[in-house]
Amino acid sequence: MNKINYQKKLDQIIEQEADRRPRLLLHSCCAPCSSYVLEYLSRYFRITVFYYNPNIDSAKEYEKRVEEQKRLIREMKLGEISVIDGRYNPQVFYQAVRGFEKEPEGGKRCYLCYQLRLRETAKLASAEKFDYFTTTLTISPLKNAQWLNEIGEKAGQEYGVAFLPSDFKKKGGYQRSIQLSKEYSLYRQNFCGCVFSKNESRERQKKNTQESQTEKQIEKNK
Ligand code: SF4
Repeated sequence: MNKINYQKKLDQIIEQEADRRPRLLLHSCCAPCSSYVLEYLSRYFRITVFYYNPNIDSAKEYEKRVEEQKRLIREMKLGEISVIDGRYNPQVFYQAVRGFEKEPEGGKRCYLCYQLRLRETAKLASAEKFDYFTTTLTISPLKNAQWLNEIGEKAGQEYGVAFLPSDFKKKGGYQRSIQLSKEYSLYRQNFCGCVFSKNESRERQKKNTQESQTEKQIEKNK
C-alpha cells in the first residue's frame, strides 16, 4: 500500500489558504514537540494551543510539562498564541486504554491514547468554531503518523471541523525541535507520558546498565 504524504497535503492547504490566516486549535503533547510546530505554523495560522494530556502519569509531571509549554510560548514571542489548559483527569485515560495496558509502546494502547486526545481537540475546535485542528504528535519518529492522520480525519468528520493533516518530522522538523529545545533549555522527558511508558523506559535503562556492566566485566577479565 502506498504511504500518504501528509506533509504534501499540509503544503497544499497552506497554499490554498494563503490569503487569510485561519484559526487553528493545536493540540500539544509537550513543549519540545510543539517548538518547531509553533515556529512553522504561526507563519500561516492564528494558533491557540490546547494542552490536553490526561495520559500523563502524575499531577507533578503534568504541571512540569504544562509550565514548560507556557514558558516556551512566552519566550518564543511568535505573536498572539494563547494556551488552553485541558482538564487533567487521568481516569479518562485509564478508562480509554482499559485492557490494553500491557501493549508495548506504539501498539493499540497508543492508538486509543491518540484517539482520546484528538477527539477532545476536535470537540473543542468545533464548539469554538476554529477553522482547523491538529496535533504536534506527528513530529515524533516514535509516533505513527498514519494512525494520527486517520484518527484526526475521522474525529473532524464526527464533530464537523476540518482536520489539518501533518507529518511534522518531515522537512527537518524533528531535528529543528531538538535544536529549539536546546536553545530554550526545555525539559525533555525520557518517557512518552503514561505510567506504562515510564516503566518501559526504566526497564530499557536497567537493561542498558546491566549490559554495559557485563561488557566492562568481560574486558576486565581478559
Ligand atoms: S506510550 Fe505515549 S502514546 Fe502510548 S499510551 Fe502511553 S502516553 Fe499514550
